[in-house]
Amino acid sequence: MNSTQLLSLAEVRALAKSVLVSAGMDDHGSDVIADIVMCSERDGPRSHGLRNLPFYVQSFTSGYANAAATPTIERIAPGVLRGDGDNGYYQIAANMAREDLIALARQNGIAAFTCANCHHLGALRFDTEPLAEAGLVALAVVNSLSLVVPHGGLRPVFGTNPMSFACPREGGAPVVWDQASSTVALMDIKMAAAEGRALPQPAGLDAQGHPTADPEAILETQSLLPFGAHKGAAIAFLIEVLGAALAGGTLSVDNEQRKEHGALNIKGGATLIAIDPTRFGNVAFDDYISRICSEIEGNDDARVPGDGRLKKRVEAEAKGVAVSKDLLAQLKTMMSQG
Ligand code: NDP
Repeated sequence: MNSTQLLSLAEVRALAKSVLVSAGMDDHGSDVIADIVMCSERDGPRSHGLRNLPFYVQSFTSGYANAAATPTIERIAPGVLRGDGDNGYYQIAANMAREDLIALARQNGIAAFTCANCHHLGALRFDTEPLAEAGLVALAVVNSLSLVVPHGGLRPVFGTNPMSFACPREGGAPVVWDQASSTVALMDIKMAAAEGRALPQPAGLDAQGHPTADPEAILETQSLLPFGAHKGAAIAFLIEVLGAALAGGTLSVDNEQRKEHGALNIKGGATLIAIDPTRFGNVAFDDYISRICSEIEGNDDARVPGDGRLKKRVEAEAKGVAVSKDLLAQLKTMMSQG
């Protein structure tokens, strides 16, 4: 039985735009988010592509997020831009700030954009990649709803708190990777539960507080383990500080408003740091990146982190992407109810 339909990337983008507009999102915001949805279907992670649209829509229809956000951005220190997302999606504010952030990084060597009062449901790779394409090194963090227990603890404190790193690579696409602070992403746990299979490794706690690979048990406790034991928990801590504390966003543990609206994400905080390597005094910076990458490539099965997206991109651009017919039906129903 054919349970998928092939869509071109233009069709994916048009579908995402229509779903968002039917949910009440304004023209500009829906353009920004439709682009991210299309890029996620193209490069991965596809869990953050069309499958994510119902969560965007839910955030508007429940009155939790602002579908017509007008973010504001203020320069509050020589290298610091501070944003207020107007309760809309972070990427709208980040798009507005990008040009100034790049200019400030080139001027000062380093600059940062922080944003509070904003939502983030996407992959962070799309926040850093444009900066690396402009020749900068970039680091992005955002805090999210509390699901990750501190190492040795029983109660979630951190979000799945993702981070992304990107740097330019001479003669090729930038190196760009992003990852959550949990061992396994929530979406993957949900998928394993739906398919009735155990996870490859313990990724959360059961009701007795023991590590388990049973996805149903983890979904019941909503308690995920950080990746790499205490080391991942420390990274989640760093992201909570650089994301929520620095920007003034909601802490991952402060979930009340989100729960009230039944939303998946919190109104958190995000920070994007841009570094101009040409202002740091090492004229051979590009050679260092090339050398690191060449030591990884051809090293048995190793590959440069994040390069998987480039292969997926070529394939998706040439052939389109196969989308579940059930998901397409769900999105069409949402549009007709909009
Ligand atoms: P993965 O573990 O799937 O991948 C992490 C990174 O490693 C990716 O950049 C991936 O890129 C790369 N990678 C994967 N396998 C290899 C390999 N064998 N060798 C080298 N590199 C590899 O990601 P997560 O499950 O941790 O996170 C999934 C997504 O969820 C991320 O995009 C993240 O930004 C997003 N997220 C967003 C949240 C939010 O609040 N907005 C919250 C949490 C997560 P590639 O495979 O393309 O090379």
